[in-house]
Amino acid sequence: MLDRTAHEALVAAVGPENVISDPVQLRSYECDGLTGFRQVPSLVVLPHTTEDVAQAVRACHRHGVPFVARGAGTGLSGGAMPVADGVVISLQRMREIVDIDPVDRRAVLQPGVTNLDITKAAAAHGLYYAPDPSSQQVCTIGGNVAENSGGAHCLKYGFTTNHVLSMTVVLPDGEIVTLGGDTGEQLGPDLRGVVIGSEGTLGIACDITVRLLRTPETVRTLLADFPSVTAAGDVVSDLIAAGIVPAAVEMMDNLAIQAAEKAVGAGYTLTTPAALVVELDGPESECETQFDEVRAICDRHGCTRLHIAETAAERARIWKGRKAAFAAVGRISPDYIVQDGVVPRTQLAEVLSRIEGMGRNAGLRVANVFHAGDGNLHPLVLFDEDAGELERAEELSTDIAELCVELGGSLSGEHGIGTDKACSMPRMFGEADLSTMDRVRAAFDPRHLCNPGKLLPTPRLCGEQPGRYRPHPLEEAGVIERL
Ligand SMILES: Cc1cc2nc3c(=O)[nH]c(=O)nc-3n(C[C@H](O)[C@H](O)[C@H](O)COP(=O)(O)OP(=O)(O)OC[C@H]3O[C@@H](n4cnc5c(N)ncnc54)[C@H](O)[C@@H]3O)c2cc1C
Repeated sequence: MLDRTAHEALVAAVGPENVISDPVQLRSYECDGLTGFRQVPSLVVLPHTTEDVAQAVRACHRHGVPFVARGAGTGLSGGAMPVADGVVISLQRMREIVDIDPVDRRAVLQPGVTNLDITKAAAAHGLYYAPDPSSQQVCTIGGNVAENSGGAHCLKYGFTTNHVLSMTVVLPDGEIVTLGGDTGEQLGPDLRGVVIGSEGTLGIACDITVRLLRTPETVRTLLADFPSVTAAGDVVSDLIAAGIVPAAVEMMDNLAIQAAEKAVGAGYTLTTPAALVVELDGPESECETQFDEVRAICDRHGCTRLHIAETAAERARIWKGRKAAFAAVGRISPDYIVQDGVVPRTQLAEVLSRIEGMGRNAGLRVANVFHAGDGNLHPLVLFDEDAGELERAEELSTDIAELCVELGGSLSGEHGIGTDKACSMPRMFGEADLSTMDRVRAAFDPRHLCNPGKLLPTPRLCGEQPGRYRPHPLEEAGVIERL
């Protein structure tokens, strides 16, 4: 519960019509896409402007109230989950596309603009916004910045950080600063880069200026079936070794294909052990030459069916199957967890066979969908909560993420660490690294009010109660100091 003065200060900051305090309505904000972690917030505020955000943050800072920024709540690592006795600052009413500049190819956006709306607005000028998370119809540019989101086309074009030129950030004490600049390259430390991917722990991104790209002259897309995931993985390695950088290379295993077909009927082969979606884009002559090479490489690895999209509608249909895959898994399992990890491409076959064995040992099925070109896996752990399988599923999911680290990869490719994997961070980073990250965080947020308990294992001993910061008894006794 917020105390009365803090509550009044927050209502005054944004106006009573922009505050949610009804307990039933507050429940809509209790989790993000990782529904296993829940916490009802004390209050939700819905600012309209950057100044409103700053006023709300200043009120939190003055009254020592923890706060969590929230975009569309599609995050899959519990990043937007509220903290106990805290406030959610929802950016859903900040949806204005402030400016599209077709000459300098930039867009200025409020943080609640959805990813797909940027491309829709830019399309009239022959431009688009490249990072394309599968959730792009609903996820927001603010959430994309916080997670450094990727998507199918990030293999060729890079992640959010490669496309954000500058942004206005409300720091955890309410100060408004501009990070980055219109030219992209700036003098001094890249604080824009520090904030991107910091999962809402260093401030709230508001007016965001992104780079727009020219819509490619040609796009060629194919769907290819393979007798095994290993054969499909070898195709990916050979494509990259041949110097081809496809716009996208996505892989799905049989379980994922079955789910996607049941949900959207995109024309995938129900019996194939693995399928690849390969897309090339660019000048027509280059695409045609490379497309022939791609077909030859697929044939060399025993491709059993190759379907080439001949129209925009066919291409959209292929992508519908891939982009619907997460949600589609709901057709074949009552519950599921989406995991996100990265391995070097050369370890794809090894990681998939180990995941299969781990699933077998745990008595759970795992479907695999991934951005194969980047080695970015999305194992979907299927379970039935009513049958008491949740804990086993969570354990398996964590073990898979940690396996990725063991194989030389990373705990997350694009969905972030959030609440879900903070406890696994010491598997990937040493004490010195974690301390440095903590100190960077403390430089922005010495009072630890901005999305506390996320990303870094804070307090370091996982299992301690998350939520509002409470000083350690040794801290109170003056024996230790929080930096
Ligand atoms: C079906 C599905 C498919 C997905 N596919 C992909 C994919 O292909 N690639 C990918 O990268 N992700 C994917 N995701 C994950 C998710 O959509 C992304 O992480 C997305 O960027 C989250 O955006 P959001 O607006 O929903 O943010 P939220 O979930 O609301 O918040 C995410 C994090 O960002 C912080 N935050 C939100 N707004 C701001 C802001 N303005 N300033 C500072 N911090 C902020 C929150 O505090 C939280 O920590 C998928 C999710 C789903 C459900």
